[in-house]
Formats: sequence, structure tokens, C-alpha cells
Amino acid sequence: MRYQKELETALSAVRKAARLCKDTQHTLITADTLEKKDRSPVTIADFGSQATVSAVLQQSFPNDPLVGEEDVDELKKNHEMLDKVFALVQAQLPAISPQDMLHAISRGNVEPDYNGRYWTVDPIDGTKGFLRKEQYAVALALLEEGDIKVGVLGCPNLPLDLAAPEKGVGCILYAVRGEGAFMCDLNGENARQIHADGLSGAQQARFVESVESAHSAHAVHEKISAALGISKEPLRLDSQCKYAAVARGDVSIYLRYPKDDIYREKIWDHAAGAIIVEEAGGAVSDIYGANLNFTRGRKLLDNRGVVATNGVLHQRVIQAITQL
Ligand code: AMP
Ligand code: MG
Repeated sequence: MRYQKELETALSAVRKAARLCKDTQHTLITADTLEKKDRSPVTIADFGSQATVSAVLQQSFPNDPLVGEEDVDELKKNHEMLDKVFALVQAQLPAISPQDMLHAISRGNVEPDYNGRYWTVDPIDGTKGFLRKEQYAVALALLEEGDIKVGVLGCPNLPLDLAAPEKGVGCILYAVRGEGAFMCDLNGENARQIHADGLSGAQQARFVESVESAHSAHAVHEKISAALGISKEPLRLDSQCKYAAVARGDVSIYLRYPKDDIYREKIWDHAAGAIIVEEAGGAVSDIYGANLNFTRGRKLLDNRGVVATNGVLHQRVIQAITQL
């Protein structure tokens, strides 16, 4: 298979980072974390997750640039936080030194040639979901000449079967361009191919949107879904777990209609999820139906919002948006 080494490395990186996030959630988020509006647990896990992913990638692909969200300067100034991050990272990578860890995080602050080969990571996508102990994801993708080649989504709290959460939570979804999309347990076992649903009647469809109403226009989603004749209540999930829900056929549509004209989506919020949906047989575009352009820097400057579907319904949804 093409990109075999890249996929294996990315899976190993995301598995370790997902474990680190779970550890942090168990030990650092207390009942009053949300009440005190204390964001430090997510900041610590963010740095730890980025360090872990970056260090694992660096071992196998030392020359590949990595674009990540977290900036190391803040961490260097905060020794108490630095110690906590290091303890978490060391639990995943016993041989790492504090210097190596800081270097690994700062590697994510580069500006690569976005038309060339680069990785992008969201160490914790869905920080609000992480703090609520709901959905979040570790998202890692490899791009070459603007095309996503590999995507891995670690979803530590996502039920294996959304309809039967008692069967277990925590999964990793992954895809290589042209090779299909797959899901396994958090420990890498029980891999199986996944497919978007084949639903062609929009009225029977269910869609997914953000929990946070600040991240997309829920009121517009309501209009789109009314225009499509959808009667089911939307599913709400934080993070790229929304892409996972489309790729597994839990829902048929993911809507992310922008709140304003200014915001541009970040590359690390979409690359991994998008290839997984596409390889599961679905389609991904912006709200106008244009392909996402990953060559314009850290943001999707050419695009507005995102629509992901099972593929069959894609043009219908774009048409409904155009006619709003
Ligand atoms: P979600 O969990 O899907 O609601 O989205 C989480 C992501 O939303 C974060 O990773 C942020 O990068 C991104 N985000 C932050 N502000 C906005 C905004 N105004 N519009 C869209 N996305 C945003
Ligand atoms: Mg994010």
C-alpha cells in the first residue's frame, strides 16, 4: 500500500497523543474545572499532544515540516505548566528530554511550502468538548501539493457505535488516498472498513453540527434542513468527530455554515476529517461547493464554511444553500 510508513507512523503518534489526552482528562479535569473557567487542563494536554505527535513524526520523517496550532513561547515562561506537560509526555515517550520536548512543540510553528509536502496537526480539536468530557479529537494529516494523502483522527470519547454507547467508547479513524477509510479501537485493534451511508432521500437524512453555536450558524442550518425537508433533530458533536459521524454513516450531512464573513477555517480543523469522509465514499466542499484549498497557508483562505455529506446528497445540499 502507498504511504504505508506514513500511515503507521501517524497511527502510532495519534494513539500515544490520544492516551495522553485521556490521562489528562482523568487526572486534571475536576468537577469545578468548568465552573472556575479553568482552561489549564486543555492547555497542558494541547502542548503534550502536539509534543508527542511531533516527536514521533520527527523520528520517522525528520525532514517533513509540521504545522500545528500551539506556540511554545507561552510554555517556556510557565515552569509549573512545563513540568506537568513533561510528565505527561514522558509517560508516552520515556526517552524524551525536556529540551527535546520543547523542540518538538516548536517544530509545529514553521511556515512550510504549502504547495509541497507537509503534515498538519490539531493536538486537541474541540477543546470545549474536552473540558466538558464530551467529544474531542487528535487530528493529523499529511498533504502533498494540496492533496490530502493520509488522515488519522483519534476520538477517545466517541462510541464505537453511536446507537449503543454501552458497547464501548474510543476509536481511531484513518484513511490513505485511494485506499478506503477504516476504524479501529484506541489500542489499534479490530480494524474494519467504514462507509458513508447511501441515503438518497434528503427527507430521511440527519445532519450533524457543532455543539458551540459560536462556531457555525445553527439558525442557517435550520433553514437549510427545512429546505431539504429534513425532520430529524440535528446531532451535535464537538470536533472532527462530526466528520467521523458522516464517514461511518451515523448521519448523512455535516453542516458548518460560517457565522460571519471574516472567519476562515484552519487547515488542521479539516484535513484529517475530510480525507476520511472522502475515502468512506462521501464528499467534502465549502458552502459554495468549491474544493477545500490547502495550499494557501494556515487558513483555508479561498473557502467559506464546510459541507460534508455521504456524496449522494452533496449537490442537493449545495443547491439548497445557494437558494437560501
Ligand atoms: P467545533 O468543535 O467543530 O465546534 O470546532 C472547533 C474548532 O472551531 C476549533 O478548533 C477552532 O479552530 C474553530 N473555531 C474557532 N472559532 C471559530 C469560528 N468563529 N468559526 C468556525 N470555527 C471556529
Ligand atoms: Mg481545532
